[in-house]
Amino acid sequence: MHVWKFGGTSVGKPERMHSIRTLITSDDTRKIVVLSALSGTTNALLAIGESLKANNDAEADTKIDTLKAHYDDFIGELYKTTEGKTAGQQVVDNEFSFIRSLIGIKPFTLKQEKELVAEGELLSTQIFQAYLVEEGIHSALLPALEFMRIDADNEPEIHFTEQKLAELLSQHEDKQIIVTQGFICRNPRGEVDNLKRGGSDYTASLIGGAIRAEEIQIWTDIDGMHNNDPRIVKNTFPVRELTFDEAAELAYFGAKILHPSTITPARMFGVPVRLKNTMDPSAAGTLIADRTSSEVFKAIAAKDGITALYIHSTRMLNAYGFLRRIFEIFEKYKTPVDMLATSEVSVSVTIDNTDRLQEITDELNTFCTLEEPDHDQTIICIVGNFSADNEGVALRVFNAMHTIPIRMISYGGTESNLSLLVHGRYKVEALNALNDGLFLV
Ligand code: ADP
Ligand code: ASP
Ligand code: MG
Repeated sequence: MHVWKFGGTSVGKPERMHSIRTLITSDDTRKIVVLSALSGTTNALLAIGESLKANNDAEADTKIDTLKAHYDDFIGELYKTTEGKTAGQQVVDNEFSFIRSLIGIKPFTLKQEKELVAEGELLSTQIFQAYLVEEGIHSALLPALEFMRIDADNEPEIHFTEQKLAELLSQHEDKQIIVTQGFICRNPRGEVDNLKRGGSDYTASLIGGAIRAEEIQIWTDIDGMHNNDPRIVKNTFPVRELTFDEAAELAYFGAKILHPSTITPARMFGVPVRLKNTMDPSAAGTLIADRTSSEVFKAIAAKDGITALYIHSTRMLNAYGFLRRIFEIFEKYKTPVDMLATSEVSVSVTIDNTDRLQEITDELNTFCTLEEPDHDQTIICIVGNFSADNEGVALRVFNAMHTIPIRMISYGGTESNLSLLVHGRYKVEALNALNDGLFLV
């Protein structure tokens, strides 16, 4: 079985839904089709939530009207038959009547916000399933809320998914296409929750791992993982092959084409991930699997909003156990450390999540001296084949960066990653300089 995920732009127009119907039925492979919300919907739902949080019911009502009008037009164009249009309209009317009912709930809490934002995927999948029915395709819609669950640490429970999905799939053995929602799940309280922005990629990979799929395909609006961020750098190009490790680094360090955690379940179960372009299905895209290719530099990604902490201790001189004491604090406050640099008397680390920063610095201050944290930093992650006998890697990176101040460097943690920390104001310049220096020479 395959798992194919279509992102917001891939389902965002009626004609796109027509094309993906053709794509998913163009061969005999049985597929689980994971859909995102139509492009723009998740943001629109969050904006409605903002109005409701601010108790601005009239504004929320107007925003709901605008969004509903978009859906009314959408289904007007999607279906050919009266039966199809009626089924689609029923879906839209039901979901919007739920959305409108949230206006009456005071106060509007995070629980309601999560129910609201889940409507995007609930709408897109039901609309698409009704279209497949109109087209006479043997398909079923499986509710993700029945088999996707996160634990108290917001980590997906893949074994639960494995068991539940097996049960649900066994009820639909005659169906060639199984449609389900990306992004949404339940939390340990049984409430509607989600896998964070861009989470449909993660859903696809979790499902792919859970059913030991033959392949996971992520269909989007670009022909695969590019060697650099195409929104910032001109002259980027698709990378044909990446290992799981290389792709995981790029996704985690900011390549927006994949949710940061997408690769983890696929790698765990050895399921290849292929990135494909819905707008140009014949383009090769990118294959993420176990094999390596020989290019030295493969791709670059950047992660913004990073905070760097500089931690000093004279007692570190010749001491052991110091790093353990520091990292226990980050562990206690469930805050992952991304980059690390050490000298004899100090340690520098970077974190992405600053929710517990105050508690972390308070505890560190009991046995270390801290400088003021540096906010607005960017990690530039360069991925490639940097095995110890590949000489000159660092030289080429530093040559390209020769006019840009570097705050931290991490090299040697794996054979596939070299990371640099720069102030966010240098991000665009650094990405362009590295593109010129590493790829266009
Ligand atoms: P979807 O809605 O299909 O999930 P996304 O917008 O989340 O699509 O991801 C696709 C976008 O990611 C591309 O249009 C591109 O602008 C952006 N992107 C950022 N970095 C990269 C990269 N290295 N390679 C390809 N696309 C990238
Ligand atoms: N619709 C969600 C979002 O916009 C999930 C996704 O598209 O992957 O973040
Ligand atoms: Mg996405």
